[in-house]
Amino acid sequence: MADVRPLSELLPSTTPKQPELPLNYRSFCTRCGIRPPYGAHRHCLWCIRALEYMTMDDQQRREYRARYIPQHFLDARLSDFSPAVRRDLEEIADKQGLYCWGPVGIGKTHLLAALANDLLIKGALAVWTTLETLCCSLRSVYQPESNANEEKIFSVVLEAEHLFLDDLGTCYSDAARATDFSHKVLYRVLDTRVHKDLPTYISSNKPPLELEKHFDERIGSRLHMLHILPLKGPDLRRTKG
Ligand SMILES: [Zn+2]
Repeated sequence: MADVRPLSELLPSTTPKQPELPLNYRSFCTRCGIRPPYGAHRHCLWCIRALEYMTMDDQQRREYRARYIPQHFLDARLSDFSPAVRRDLEEIADKQGLYCWGPVGIGKTHLLAALANDLLIKGALAVWTTLETLCCSLRSVYQPESNANEEKIFSVVLEAEHLFLDDLGTCYSDAARATDFSHKVLYRVLDTRVHKDLPTYISSNKPPLELEKHFDERIGSRLHMLHILPLKGPDLRRTKG
């Protein structure tokens, strides 16, 4: 499994709130023309980040992306995938995110990382985790030395602009049910993000209906709000590293 950082290290990666609007407020960012400018800036927060990224050298860009996605996948790009997959990904825009599934080693994590890299370069923010890491981070708040609390950890994944959940359900054998705890955690994450219209990107070695058996139909119905993409053998054109 890809190296995944504990969520307590990711606390600042949610989007800051829009500051008080100044009197000379412009209605649209002068770069993208789509989003409102951030505070007194001419640009929106995403364009501010994208412009900052453009001023970095290669090493700084890698370090920036390494804050959000696993080190091993820093070079993953959408161009690594067949044109059919890239066309298929255009459908994500009309959905609440992506559910990408296929056998182990087919390139699912590579695809999620390619999407995350693409978003980061465009100035968006991504949080990358697994359900197991999230559950561990939530449980760890009850250790005496912890200074985090459950709601703070939850806020990282509930408010993330883009949430990547890698390897969902891989640990469950055929008939196994998820624990009550991981079940509740996953439901809260998916349900809240659907209601907030925030995209979630999931990889799994199981099709959604099979994953539903480990959880329940409420989770299954939320998974079906994502764009479902099965990955097959020839979709990843070259493997790096
Ligand atoms: Zn903008």
